[in-house]
Amino acid sequence: MADFFIGGEWVGAAGGGTREIRCPADGSLVATVDEGTGEDTERAIAAARAAFDDGAWSSTPSWQRGDLLLRVADLLDRDRDAFARAESLDTGKRLVESEYDMADIAACFRYYGKLAGQDAGRVVDTGDADAVSRIVHEPVGVCGLITPWNYPLLQTAWKVAPALAAGNTFVLKPSELTPHTAILLMRILTEAGLPAGVGNLVLGAGAAAGAPLAEHPDVDLVSFTGGLATGRVIAASAAATVKKVALELGGKNPNVVFADADFETAVDYALTAIFLHSGQVCSAGSRLIVQEEIHDAFVDEVVRRAELIRLGGPFDPEAETGPLISAAHREKVERYVATALAEGAVLRTGGRRPDDEKLADGFYYLPTVLDGVAQGSTAVREESFGPVLTVETFTDEDDAVRIANDTHYGLAGAVFTSDASRAQRVAGRLRHGTVWINDFHPYLPQAEWGGFKQSGFGRELGPTGLAEYQEVKHIYQNLRPAPQRWFSGDS
Ligand code: NAD
Repeated sequence: MADFFIGGEWVGAAGGGTREIRCPADGSLVATVDEGTGEDTERAIAAARAAFDDGAWSSTPSWQRGDLLLRVADLLDRDRDAFARAESLDTGKRLVESEYDMADIAACFRYYGKLAGQDAGRVVDTGDADAVSRIVHEPVGVCGLITPWNYPLLQTAWKVAPALAAGNTFVLKPSELTPHTAILLMRILTEAGLPAGVGNLVLGAGAAAGAPLAEHPDVDLVSFTGGLATGRVIAASAAATVKKVALELGGKNPNVVFADADFETAVDYALTAIFLHSGQVCSAGSRLIVQEEIHDAFVDEVVRRAELIRLGGPFDPEAETGPLISAAHREKVERYVATALAEGAVLRTGGRRPDDEKLADGFYYLPTVLDGVAQGSTAVREESFGPVLTVETFTDEDDAVRIANDTHYGLAGAVFTSDASRAQRVAGRLRHGTVWINDFHPYLPQAEWGGFKQSGFGRELGPTGLAEYQEVKHIYQNLRPAPQRWFSGDS
């Protein structure tokens, strides 16, 4: 086996470690891959450092770097089916969802491919005809990129595309549970012409293979997407070498439904908000916050529809959503629900594994609705990252905003109402990095994504997503240098 890509070569784990990747839908063996340790990551860091310090990639004209990204987008389109299949086998998500992801991934590479060539910096008015002043953007250097398992290649694209557009080199460490599309991506980057050492890949567990990316002095920036607890560890490790840090962490995302919202539409979106990909979405609308006069009818309808959702594997044409990523993750969701019930939540539906024998080998969990959750309870504070919807009730606009903001997270939120003024007022008051009005989940490569509060810092996507990977330098030139005579000297 040779699943790591280091310095332009496919190599195996130095220590000979391996890991079995199993499909969460039925536990079947997808493949056995190399399992790295810090030693492998340090080799990859050395390769990325050498490639950056050599200067060939960072001094490649930005439009040429952009052209390479556009070629990558075309190759991703060409190989869409193989990528989507690999993503579905690793994650258990429906093939059609992986296909949607592939379109978004190619779009991300296209966006940064086009943006790369447009960045000529800025000329500053010095007020002096004999002085020229410019602001230029330079790559940060060696980037450590650490990604999660829920949208493996999409989260990777959000980092790799801008990192390369800006002229950096990188070491990618994807989730140990879902490595395959990262391997395929490295092949495509090479085919598109990426020079050896610019892009490097290691696989393995976070504490072993991932940790050096936050700790190592030769890494200039670490960009991490994952859970809050890991984010805290990474920020603390990175502080020792004062490297740049970007954190995209979890969310406890409010979905606020006013009584004047279109009922059927709001119910429909409330379901997609939480049950898409079985809730394993950082921006999942896990907190339904509904106005009291429609509470009963609204929750009844959400429960009725949730009970109709069909579970199944990635290639089951009848399936509407899939399994959780692992046995351990399902146990975490089960503990979350047990705690919520112990704290007084009312179980309206779900709260257990499905009875269907066909699903017995996968890590399935029924769509679950918990009503009557108390403010400040564990259920409204902590991310379950599973198909679990909690319901809270509000009286008026101020109450809705207060409840929606009562969380240490701040990733995303939504408001459903037919009153356009109210929609804008509430959107302005929500302390979350993305707010949807009468919609849930859409994101665009050209629009920034990221969290307020403990959902992280830094932004991905949009022009800010490129700026994350750039240093800003001021270059000032005196066109008529002559002695200043500030000090009298001997004249
Ligand atoms: P995780 O934090 O367990 O792992 C994420 C990545 O970090 C993995 O590659 C893992 O191997 C690595 N890692 C773990 N410990 C590490 C360490 N000590 N040093 C370096 N790397 C380490 O998260 P997960 O379970 O893979 O993903 C789920 C979480 O990700 C959820 O909390 C979700 O909300 C969040 N997420 C956020 C966004 C966003 O855009 N904000 C997007 C997707 C997922």
